Amino acid sequence: MDHLVFDNRFVRELPADPSAAPGVRQVSGACYSRVLPTPVAAPELLAWSREVADMLGFDEVGGHSPAFAEVFAGNRLLPGMQPYAACYGGHQFGQWAGQLGDGRAISLGEVLTARHGRQELQLKGAGPTPYARHADGRAVLRSSLREFLCSEAMHHLGVPTTRALCLVGTGEEVVRDMFYDGHPRPEPGAVVCRLAPSFVRFGNFEIFTARGELEVLERLADFVIARDFPWIDGSPAERRAAWFLEVCERTARMVAHWMRVGFVHGVMNTDNMSILGLTIDYGPYGWIDNFDPGWTPNTTDAGGRRYRFGHQPRVAHWNLLQLANALYPLFGDVKPLHAGLEHYVASYEAASRRMQADKLGLAEALNDDDADRLDALHRLMTRAEIDMTLFFRYLADVDIGTPSLAPLEEAFYSPQRRAEYGEELLAWLGTHAARLRMENRPVAERVARMHAANPLYVPRNWLAQQAIDAAEQGDLAPTRMLMEVLRRPYEEQPGAQAHAARRPDWARERAGCSMLSCSS
Ligand code: AMP
Ligand code: MG
Ligand code: MG
Repeated sequence: MDHLVFDNRFVRELPADPSAAPGVRQVSGACYSRVLPTPVAAPELLAWSREVADMLGFDEVGGHSPAFAEVFAGNRLLPGMQPYAACYGGHQFGQWAGQLGDGRAISLGEVLTARHGRQELQLKGAGPTPYARHADGRAVLRSSLREFLCSEAMHHLGVPTTRALCLVGTGEEVVRDMFYDGHPRPEPGAVVCRLAPSFVRFGNFEIFTARGELEVLERLADFVIARDFPWIDGSPAERRAAWFLEVCERTARMVAHWMRVGFVHGVMNTDNMSILGLTIDYGPYGWIDNFDPGWTPNTTDAGGRRYRFGHQPRVAHWNLLQLANALYPLFGDVKPLHAGLEHYVASYEAASRRMQADKLGLAEALNDDDADRLDALHRLMTRAEIDMTLFFRYLADVDIGTPSLAPLEEAFYSPQRRAEYGEELLAWLGTHAARLRMENRPVAERVARMHAANPLYVPRNWLAQQAIDAAEQGDLAPTRMLMEVLRRPYEEQPGAQAHAARRPDWARERAGCSMLSCSS
């Protein structure tokens, strides 16, 4: 592990909190607080990503050494590590929430890699920080496994995301609001080591504007542009304008991908929005089984459904508007900020029309008629209770000369709804097939493009829950198997039929399999 080369620009170039100690307090004038991870009782390596290990130059053997688990549980620092927790605020569920900050995430440092640039290593669940408020700074195995599994799956799906190196059990118990026979049930604790070129969030900027600390705001913005967007050049004003435009574009592309694969983030607060347009902070996220734009996995949001599947593109726009407000003092001019927000709308529309065309098998991006036809399909899928993943995957098997529902039977959840809506769906397929015939595209090319846009395997909530149930009993085999399958989500894999199945009946209402709370 001594091969890792650290270059910690965040702590070197930005203002630090002079009196960093865990506790409940406001940290002013600083971008971060120095803090050490709190050692855990018995670190045990539970799982790791071989691709991320490879990015960091680890070999197979490295991961199996006890020292590896010690370092990534936070028990031991490597030379060059300078741990810190970042200060940020955020809008939560539409309201300004004041200072939040890394309450249980501790960055270890920025590694310079040979082929993947700068990668910051961050432990989640490594103990309290000055931003922990009254919480314990820990994370349960259940939520850590979900973050580890899903962020790697998202990467293999081609969705911009933070990555995860490994999952380490702490040998300690953590109590959350999971009850068994009326008593709190202690759960095993775990730490995830995650990676990103930058963990800066929209909320890192918002906090300084809210406090009127405009000098810190300016330093942070110029730092982020220089470190994380080094390709942007021009005068300071030009660079800031180009930067905001790029943040808007990346956010649009990220959300278009979420809508393509059926991912629902669940907590799109501005403190959970990455400045690099990466999916970040996997909490009560979920995956669409039966297509439903109104679905949210987050029980905390069940009333307002602010973060429902179909609302994500608009929420991202609202979040960018909050970022624009926070950056306004630096710009002193609304024009570049307006331009960025408009660019978001245009970029989202373009990315979405391209991706949805690939899902449907169209060579050209959707035109307005195609978009209307897609809306009609979505309404039909919702009413008919059709599995999103299986429907789009098997759509490629429909013969566009003589369309039939036969290849799509697996995608129906209810025989009654199948009977009720079958004819309408067949009619839709007929029009769609006619549209595809007009393009006269070679079948093999169309099918290949459809398969590359429509995964067969996604980390459905109930699959993750099965892996968690086993992991809590000390059996990591289902986790490793699931990770293996999710490494090639677009390729049909022999022996993995169970991982491609639609949600089984037992999982419909079970906790963890459909809806989740924020408690983690
Ligand atoms: P989240 O909803 O996970 O994005 O978290 C919102 C805020 O609560 C962030 O500032 C987190 O760092 C903090 N937080 C969540 N859980 C804990 C915990 N167990 N200990 C300390 N801080 C936490
Ligand atoms: Mg968060
Ligand atoms: Mg969280």
